[in-house]
Amino acid sequence: MTTENVELQRRICTLQKKRRSINAHFTLKGCRRISESDYQLPVVALACNFAAPDGNTPPILNPWEVETLFHEFGHALHSLLSRTEFQHFSGTRTVLDFSETPSQLFEHYAWDYRLLSQFGRHYLTGEIIPEKMVASMNDAKRMLSATEVQRQVRAFHITANTLLQMFKIFWLARN
Ligand SMILES: [Zn+2]
Repeated sequence: MTTENVELQRRICTLQKKRRSINAHFTLKGCRRISESDYQLPVVALACNFAAPDGNTPPILNPWEVETLFHEFGHALHSLLSRTEFQHFSGTRTVLDFSETPSQLFEHYAWDYRLLSQFGRHYLTGEIIPEKMVASMNDAKRMLSATEVQRQVRAFHITANTLLQMFKIFWLARN
């Protein structure tokens, strides 16, 4: 690998804390056909705002940051694997539902023990992340999702009741 490639890789994959919270994928150069058999290779960048190391430990991502990294990496793969005639139709430059499909799919890998056990290790001991811990993380995630659904149902209930009361007041005032 050349020095130029190493520098490019460093710039493309910057995992540092920034002042503003940004987690995003950027297509710097999209794919497009450049000849009968060749395509322009896409160039993408991920900007992820992860917690900075404290000076004594390496950067350690929490489960939500790993999920974010996988999400953005799903966007990156979508763009990198694109083969289109025109670059303005390549990768994530498509309808929103479809542009989020690979990234949403990749998020699920961030919670799958079969994949996490391939790289998730304790930074001091090198111990592979315990399967039981991943199961607990998944349980906590499901509990938080259920709580969020309950919050939304409650908010809908309050909004619906408020609208109903307003309608009754309006109806009584008219009649
Ligand atoms: Zn996304």
